[in-house]
Amino acid sequence: MFSYHMPTNIQFGKQILLKQGHLLKSQGKKALIVTGANSAKKSGALDDARQVLKKLAIDYEIYSEIKENPDLESIHNGAVQMKKSGSDFVIGIGGGSPVDAAKAISVVAANDFQNDEFYQSGNIKKAHPIISITTTSGTGTEATPYSVVTNCDKKAGFGSPLMFPTLSFLDPTYTFSMPDKVTRDTAIDALSHLLEGIYSAKRCPLLYPLITTGVRVIYSVLEEALAEPENFEHRKQLMIASLYGGMVIAQSSTTLQHSIGYPLTTFYGLSHGMANGVVMKHIMELYYPYLNDEIDMLFTHLNCSRNDFYKWLDKLGMKTSLKLDKEFIDKATDQIEKSRNMALNPLQVKRDQVAHILAQL
Ligand code: NAP
Ligand code: FE
Repeated sequence: MFSYHMPTNIQFGKQILLKQGHLLKSQGKKALIVTGANSAKKSGALDDARQVLKKLAIDYEIYSEIKENPDLESIHNGAVQMKKSGSDFVIGIGGGSPVDAAKAISVVAANDFQNDEFYQSGNIKKAHPIISITTTSGTGTEATPYSVVTNCDKKAGFGSPLMFPTLSFLDPTYTFSMPDKVTRDTAIDALSHLLEGIYSAKRCPLLYPLITTGVRVIYSVLEEALAEPENFEHRKQLMIASLYGGMVIAQSSTTLQHSIGYPLTTFYGLSHGMANGVVMKHIMELYYPYLNDEIDMLFTHLNCSRNDFYKWLDKLGMKTSLKLDKEFIDKATDQIEKSRNMALNPLQVKRDQVAHILAQL
C-alpha cells in the first residue's frame, strides 16, 4: 500500500517568475516577502518578484531578518509584521532558511500562535498561502509541508499539509551566485533527503525512480557544477535533484540522518548539509544489513560501489574531527531519541548505536 499527496503548483525554468508570475494574482492582495540578508538580492530573485508584483498591482512589504537556521524570535517578529501590514500571503525568497521562515510566519500569523505551538501539527488549523522562490538547490522545501525552526538551542522540524507551498518558482539561474560551500552543502542535503526516502518506514516504491535519478545526478554533476558555477545545465540538474528530494521526503519524512545532524548544527555550527554529510556513511552502514536490496539497487544505478561513494564524500570534504565529548554525546542522544524524525526509522535504532556514530565524528 502507498499514498502520494503533493498539492504544490511547481513552475520550473529560466526566467520562470517573469513568465509565470501572473499566477500570483490568485494568491492574495498583499504579500509579506520574507528573505535573508543577501541571497534574495544577489540571486536576482527579489528584483524579479518586485517587478512581477508591481505589474500585477499587488502591494507588498519586505521582512529581511531571517538568518541561517531561523529562530523562534525571528518568526514571531515576522508574524507581527505580517499582521500589522495586513498581508494575506507570504513569499519566501532564498535558501531553505527564508522559505521555511515564510512557512512558519504564515502559520503563526494565521493561527495567532503566541509561542511554539506549531511543533504540534494538530494545532495548525490554518495557513496563509505560501509562495516559495528558492535560491539554493538542497532543502526541497519548495515541495514539502515542513519547516525547521530553532527554539532555545533545539532545532526541530514540524509540518502540516497546510504548509505545502501553493506555488513554487524554481529558476536555476538564481543559484548561480551561491558560494561553493553553499552549492556543495545544499547538494549534500538533497542527497540526504533522497537516501532517507529509502531509510524510512514509509518508503514507497513509487518514489524509487526519483531517488535513483536524483542520487545519480548529484553524484555525477556536483563536482562539475562546482568547477563551473554558471553552467545552466548543471544548475538545472541539481535543482531538479533537490526537487526530487523534496517530493520524496514530503511522503517518507526525514529520519535518523537528519535527527543526528540537527545538534551538530546547533552546537558545532556545521551547515545543515554538512551535518547530514558527515554522518552519511555511518548511517548507510547502520542500515545496510536491513535494507541491502534497496541500497544495492541504488549502487547498480550509480555504477559504483559503496566504498567508491564514501571516497567521493571524503573528497568533497564530508568529514570532521569533532572529537565529541561524552557530555555532548549524552545530551545530543537525548534530543535525537525524542525527535519527530525518529518515529519513522525502518528499524529500531538503539541509543548506543546513535552514541557510537557521534563518537566516530
Ligand atoms: P540557507 O540557510 O537558506 O542559506 C545558507 C547561506 O547561503 C546563507 O548565508 C544565504 O544567504 C546563502 N545563500 C543562499 N542562496 C544564495 C544564493 N543564490 N547566492 C548567494 N548566497 C546564497 O541554506 P539552505 O541549506 O538552503 O537551508 C537550510 C535550512 O533549511 C535549514 O534550517 C534546514 O534545517 C532547513 N531544511 C528544511 C527542509 C524542509 O523540508 N523544509 C528540508 C531540509 C532542510 P542569506 O542569509 O542572505 O539568505
Ligand atoms: Fe535537509
